[in-house]
Amino acid sequence: MAEVRLDGITRTFGDEAAVDDVDLTVRDGEILGVVGPSGCGKTTTLRTIAGFETPDAGRVLFDGEDVTHVPPERRNVGLVFQSYALFDNMSVAANVAFGLKMQGVGRTERRERAEELLELLDIAELADRSPTTLSGGQQQRVGLARALAVEPDILLLDEPMTGLDANLKERLRTELGSLLEELGVTALYVTHDQQEAMVMCDRIAVLNDGTVEQVGDPAALYERPANQFVADFVGTSNVLPATVAGGTLDLGFTAGPCSLPDTGDGKAIVRPDDFVVGGDDVEGVVRDRFYLGGEVRARVELPDGQLVTVALDGRDRAVGDAVALGLDTDALHVVDAATGAGAGGADSPETTPGSAVQ
Ligand code: ATP
Repeated sequence: MAEVRLDGITRTFGDEAAVDDVDLTVRDGEILGVVGPSGCGKTTTLRTIAGFETPDAGRVLFDGEDVTHVPPERRNVGLVFQSYALFDNMSVAANVAFGLKMQGVGRTERRERAEELLELLDIAELADRSPTTLSGGQQQRVGLARALAVEPDILLLDEPMTGLDANLKERLRTELGSLLEELGVTALYVTHDQQEAMVMCDRIAVLNDGTVEQVGDPAALYERPANQFVADFVGTSNVLPATVAGGTLDLGFTAGPCSLPDTGDGKAIVRPDDFVVGGDDVEGVVRDRFYLGGEVRARVELPDGQLVTVALDGRDRAVGDAVALGLDTDALHVVDAATGAGAGGADSPETTPGSAVQ
C-alpha cells in the first residue's frame, strides 16, 4: 500500500502539454478513477506514475518519497493495460509467475503464488492453457493476476475492460472493485466509461486537456460538479441558463426559492430525474422519447424553445403529448457563475479548477 502524490507534474510532447501542472493525490488503499475525453492526458499521467515518462516539471511522490527519477522496475508498480500483452509461448500459470521469476523467487513458491491468484480470480482451471486459447475476459483476468503476483504497492489499470462485451464488463467491474478493496492496493483506474468509474472507484479525477477539472467521490461529482465540463462528462445533464439573486433561482421558464449565494448569471445543472412529471412549474411538449433499460426518457420542448431531457418515471407519454413538469429550484446546483466555479448544495466540490487536489 502507498499514497501517490503528483506535485505540479507537466509532460510536454513538442509544444503540446499532455499533462499540464497537475496536482493529484491517490490516498493509500483507494481506487481513484481517471476519466476524461480522448487525448486529455490519462495514459500519460499513468505512465508518469509508472516511471515510463519523466516529467518536464514537477515531482512524483510515493508515501512522501520522491521517485521522479527512480526507474520503473524499482517502483513496485503493477500495470494492466488495454492490450494484455500476455506471453503467448508460456502457459497462463507461467505468465502469472513471470514477474516473480524476474525477482528471483523459487519455482515452487512461484507456482503456489500463481495458483493462489488464479484461484482468487476464479480461473484456476486455465493454469496450463496457452493465452491464445482464452477469451478476452479470461485474458483480462490473467493480465490482472500477473500484475498482482508481484504484490505491487500501486496498481495502474488503463482501460482494462476495453473490448469486452457489456455483460462481462458489468460482472467483472463488480468483482474487480471488490477484489481491489480486499487487497487494499492503491489503484488508478483509467477509463472512458464514466459509469464504470462510478461503480468501481472511491473517487474520480476528471481530466480535460491535460489539467484536472475536479476530484471527488462519485456522488459529489454528480451532485456538485465544479463546472459545465464535469456536469456534461459525468452523467446526463441539462445545463440551463440561470440567474441567482435575492434567494431566487430564475430559469426563465420558472423561478423559485433557493439557498445559494447571489452568484448572478450562471448555469443550472438539471438532471433528468430532477424534473417531477406531473408538477406545476412549466408545461412542455414531448418531442422524442427513448428507452434506457428500465427507464424511459423524453426530450421535452419548453415554451421558450429549450429542449430538456426528462426521466418519465413510469408515467409514459407519447411524442406530441403535453407534459407538466415541476422543479425544486432549491435542490439545483449552479456552475460557471461570474463569482465562482461551482455553487449549490450544502458542500462545495472537493476541488475546483486550479486548486490543489487532496
Ligand atoms: P485516450 O483516451 O485516447 O487513450 P489519453 O487521455 O490517455 O487518451 P494520452 O495518451 O495521455 O491521452 O495523450 C495526451 C496527449 O499527448 C495527446 O494529445 C497525445 O497525442 C499526446 N501524446 C501522448 N504520448 C505522446 C508521444 N509519445 N509523443 C507525442 N505525443 C504524445
